[in-house]
Amino acid sequence: ASLFTAIEMAPRDPILGITEAFNADKNPAKINLGVGVYYDNNGKVPLLDCVKKAEAILMEKGAPRTYLPIDGLAAYDKAVQELVFGAGSAVINEKRAITAQAIGGTGALKLGADFLQRFAPGAQVWISDPSWENHRALFESAGFTVNNYPYYDPSTRGVNFSGMLGALQTMPSGSIVLLHACCHNPTGADLSAAQWLEVIQVVTERGLVPFLDMAYQGFGDGIEADGKVVRQFADAGGPLFVSNSFSKSFSLYGERVGALSIVAVSAEEAARLLSQLKRVIRTNYSNPPMHGGQVVAMALATPELRQLWEDELAGMRVRIREMRQLLVAKLKEKAPAHDFDFVIQQRGMFSYSGLTKEQVSRLASEYSIYAVDTGRICVAALNSTNIDKVVEAISKVL
Ligand code: PLP
Repeated sequence: ASLFTAIEMAPRDPILGITEAFNADKNPAKINLGVGVYYDNNGKVPLLDCVKKAEAILMEKGAPRTYLPIDGLAAYDKAVQELVFGAGSAVINEKRAITAQAIGGTGALKLGADFLQRFAPGAQVWISDPSWENHRALFESAGFTVNNYPYYDPSTRGVNFSGMLGALQTMPSGSIVLLHACCHNPTGADLSAAQWLEVIQVVTERGLVPFLDMAYQGFGDGIEADGKVVRQFADAGGPLFVSNSFSKSFSLYGERVGALSIVAVSAEEAARLLSQLKRVIRTNYSNPPMHGGQVVAMALATPELRQLWEDELAGMRVRIREMRQLLVAKLKEKAPAHDFDFVIQQRGMFSYSGLTKEQVSRLASEYSIYAVDTGRICVAALNSTNIDKVVEAISKVL
């Protein structure tokens, strides 16, 4: 027997499992709607022009590959902070916000979780029901007990807001509440502006610790609109944790560019938090990689590239919206007995389509169309070439 004889096989990642099944499917017309990636209308993951241009400038410069500071490229952290909190915002002017470059949004969540485990080890974490499946795993692996608060209501295909608010009102003070800032994954159901104000009020009054995950800024209603809730939370004072990611908004998935920001109650507290956050990073991976951070910093801080990025991101957002409209319109024709109007209200890359596990399974086995068991489909994987086939297949399995 070896040291590892008793180690069991870990469960397969549900999403990666779909990709494996998709890859193994020999049907040339197969379609993968199980992904969490934006595809353009040609079914390709785009390389944005703003990224190409920033890379060309960087290549020209030919800078040496030294180590970055522990908390990342200073220009990147500054640009991210201004994007997340707003240039000239009170938290930035008062130096109450700290921002550290992280290994994607996942890395930012992990840093936040490890940091909180050091300084608030007794707290429990609350995530939405359902949530991105890695949220639970990340916080559990950092040592937390993770609970669910009610979120999605299948009967209305919207948010169970009274259930959510009721849960917030009974959580012990100091509980860590993970909230999706926009474009909820997996449901696509977001809170209204008025509902957010109620959440902010309860979270503040009850002394809960908000942790906002913003992985899809710009995919809902626009960069400003999607980030608004972060600013409102920041205005309500600290503490506040924000993880953000450029994987989707810059189509830089493999470069792993994200950041963790923390809002403190004073500049002096912020300085202490940053010093401790650096320890978490130092003992984890020492310092982040350069390339993605440099690209994003340059794109955000160079007016011409910034405009290009905003336009390209708007293009992705608009295309997803068009696919929502088209999906609903075509389903109305093919399956008039079923109401899919809710798909238009949903925000971001995903739709909780309402398809059952059995229906999803039939889509795969009979039509080579792959989706998540929960009925989650990636609207950003639909295009003018594949949408008719998807609609036809859905109408057959309903
Ligand atoms: N948070 C949510 C809600 C996500 O959907 C994702 C990615 O799918 C992430 C965080 C992680 O983003 P990244 O790929 O930058 O690690």
